[in-house]
Amino acid sequence: MTTSPDTGPRAATTPATRGSGPAPHRVLVTGSRTWKNHAPIHAALDELLTTHPDLVLVHGACKQGADAIADRWARLRGLPDNRIVRHPAEWRRYKAAAGGRRNTAMVQAGAHICLAFIDLCAKPACDKPMPHGSHGAEDCARKAHAAGIPVTPDPPWKTRHDAVQLTFGGAP
Ligand SMILES: [Zn+2]
Repeated sequence: MTTSPDTGPRAATTPATRGSGPAPHRVLVTGSRTWKNHAPIHAALDELLTTHPDLVLVHGACKQGADAIADRWARLRGLPDNRIVRHPAEWRRYKAAAGGRRNTAMVQAGAHICLAFIDLCAKPACDKPMPHGSHGAEDCARKAHAAGIPVTPDPPWKTRHDAVQLTFGGAP
């Protein structure tokens, strides 16, 4: 897998540091830490990489699930580190509030699209009415939507029997 050589004046600059030209296409991936199916994540990201070779992957750096799968995809596809933006939650500092804070900051940093891979909530003794998605990923997808970022829980992954179909009820 190769990319065409770029010998133009922009070749020496990186999307992260150049001050002019089109902004790189930032793709925010959110999802459940229980998400195990790599195929829909790879398919969605591969499609976006074809149309946006300058793709920058943004995710929450969870060591399991959708974040980890997306991160591995980026490394498999040879994205340099400056095109993988990781937003780990500061669990020790902010405890239970860390995920929400991280999601707010990650969404505020901006993205062109948000891909959501959300499993049903698996929290023991969760008191929210079922069915609903895992809380952290739903929070991130809703914040992205509220910020005007298109959120895409579309086929093929919405056909997964245990995946959540998000509904936002109208425009952000
Ligand atoms: Zn729950």
